[in-house]
Amino acid sequence: MISGKTALVGLLGQPVEHSISPIMHNAALEEMKLDWTYVPMPCNKSDLPTVLNALSAINCRGLNVTIPHKESVAKLCSSLSPIAKRIGAVNTLIPNKKGGWIGTNTDITGFLEPLKKTRKEWKGCEAIILGCGGSARAIFAGLEDLHLAKITIVGRTPNKLEAFLIDLKTISSESCNNPISLTGYIHDDPNLNNQLNTADLIVNATPVGMAPKRTPPSEPLQIPLGLEAWKNLNSKTILYDLIYTPRPTAWLALGNEHGCKCIDGLEMLVQQGAASLKLWSGIEKIPINAMRAAAKKCLSI
Ligand code: NAP
Repeated sequence: MISGKTALVGLLGQPVEHSISPIMHNAALEEMKLDWTYVPMPCNKSDLPTVLNALSAINCRGLNVTIPHKESVAKLCSSLSPIAKRIGAVNTLIPNKKGGWIGTNTDITGFLEPLKKTRKEWKGCEAIILGCGGSARAIFAGLEDLHLAKITIVGRTPNKLEAFLIDLKTISSESCNNPISLTGYIHDDPNLNNQLNTADLIVNATPVGMAPKRTPPSEPLQIPLGLEAWKNLNSKTILYDLIYTPRPTAWLALGNEHGCKCIDGLEMLVQQGAASLKLWSGIEKIPINAMRAAAKKCLSI
């Protein structure tokens, strides 16, 4: 029930109407008995400065930021956490007592949480990231923190891949003293096949396979790099798809057939949301089960 004392938290993006974050967060707020409500707020890039000032003025308790504003918002914060500074992207805003907003990023925590459960030690392992967009950047930083030995990026657009690799080298050299071997491949490079068969982890950070783009049964399945690329998939390779609709994606279904451990994007979504709520509320124990259950119900799983 919204009362005269109800405080505001919410999501800034464009579009936001398909987001399941409001359902997930409001389920948690109810369980926590916090008199807050989480509202989706569609916002154009040009309006961001005005909207952020206004929300600060009305004592909004916290914000999530989604596509396409994660990088623009980073430039509007009064301060940035080290991780947001490192990757240049913000998905969480916390009110700054000195005025304005503190920008941080919980996507990395969200991504790593389910991954850490799959094996104790990632040090020295080799990973492949498919895609070179916003989330691939956060994933690279997360994998670097796990001290992987080698990360291969696969992109479809040569100039974007090249720019992305230069960017990652900057992130890498600015961060820890952990030298990582970084290489890039264009998605149809035949030399990529060997890497696909020997990697410890492959992450799909492209939208390939996401519903509603799933094709009718008569048409080829939406599988990153195409079906042929995975014919020699090693059962020891862990497949991690950031997509959570459908469950499983065609790629993860293929991984299951090959005996691979498979992770989809739902847990990442839940964990990054829980990490944001912890930062806004200062409450350690977030009802993650309620958030997960609400998300699954919304996706009708
Ligand atoms: P993004 O910034 O738009 O990047 C997408 C990347 O995929 C780009 O490198 C793009 O290549 C590539 N790509 C797009 N369509 C492709 C295709 N048909 N074939 C090959 N490559 C293609 O998107 P993002 O924010 O990184 O998100 C990527 C995916 O992760 C989305 O499906 C998103 O829903 C999901 N995601 C999930 C979570 C979660 O919590 N589970 C969080 C963040 C993102 P070009 O640059 O050449 O266009």
